[in-house]
Amino acid sequence: MKIAMLNPPHRFGQDTTQWITVPPQGYGGIQWVVATLIDGLLHAGCEILLVGAPGSISRPGLTISDATTFDATLAAIREFGPDVVHDHTNGELLPADPPWPAVRTHHLNGVPEHLANGIYLSRAQRQAAGSADAPIIRLPVNPDRYTYRASKDRFLLFLGRVSVHKGARQAAAFAQAAGLPLKLAGPAWEPDYLHGILTDYPDTAAYVGEVGGTGRTELLALANALLVLSQPFGGPFGGEWIEPGATVVAEAAVSGTPVIATDNGCLAEIAPHVGVALPPEEAPDPELATKILAGLPAPAHLRATAIERWGHHVIAAKYLEVYRRAAAGNTWS
Ligand code: UDP
Repeated sequence: MKIAMLNPPHRFGQDTTQWITVPPQGYGGIQWVVATLIDGLLHAGCEILLVGAPGSISRPGLTISDATTFDATLAAIREFGPDVVHDHTNGELLPADPPWPAVRTHHLNGVPEHLANGIYLSRAQRQAAGSADAPIIRLPVNPDRYTYRASKDRFLLFLGRVSVHKGARQAAAFAQAAGLPLKLAGPAWEPDYLHGILTDYPDTAAYVGEVGGTGRTELLALANALLVLSQPFGGPFGGEWIEPGATVVAEAAVSGTPVIATDNGCLAEIAPHVGVALPPEEAPDPELATKILAGLPAPAHLRATAIERWGHHVIAAKYLEVYRRAAAGNTWS
């Protein structure tokens, strides 16, 4: 099957000579999803054109397009002649009614701009978009891209945007209650928020910056637990923040690291398989934090669960099924 995969084109930080690649150089949830899905689809024998991520590395079966604009994207797709177009750009690179069979994975909150042939990451996200029937396919993880460690160092990890809706402050409060250091990794686009956490939790929280490469995989593998204490407010698009898919959950689990999450959005659906999902308003006290940490699943079980539920081969097979539906002319919303 020939698939045109559309990634949202974003510059790499302030650098106007580079685009965020697939996989990304650092932070990049959608770019990791696209990279992992491509891993699975190439293994299944698909031929892929990747648009919106110039500078990414090509492989047999994978062509990288230079297109980053709407018009250039349409020209590139036309030349490629796909069986199906898979949009991850929320309509940025694909018209509402494209001349090819198309599906759209929604990565954000709320009602998407184009509803036709949507795919959601969780029941919570689908419900918030007002859809009842669209497929739900979880975010994938490729175990070969992560390090597995059964023995851990003594710290808790926050990995993501250091932002209100991601619960970095709640992570520091939990770590303090647990008596463990917290490593905060990720871009801090709201410096005052980060500064407030470091000021209020000086003996607990340390900021290690945005991480990539082995720095990232080692942190994921060595942490006692990953804290994903997502909050229902403070999101980048206003309104209620409903955690849509949370790539970091599968990434931690495949590294043998359990997840302590809130039950916000997708987390109520996925985190209990590889850890716990707590009510966001639950303030941790030392007794509860210690009890939670003591009850988490073992590393080998976590890795096996992540591969079985979210492994790239499993998720690519689900996408192929949906691509076939779209290519056969089926539509849904
Ligand atoms: N990430 C990274 N380096 C960082 C912080 C995050 O590579 O310093 C990655 C992380 O591993 C995950 C992605 O960025 O793959 C964040 O995706 P997630 O779905 O968890 O959060 P969101 O996309 O909602 O910010």
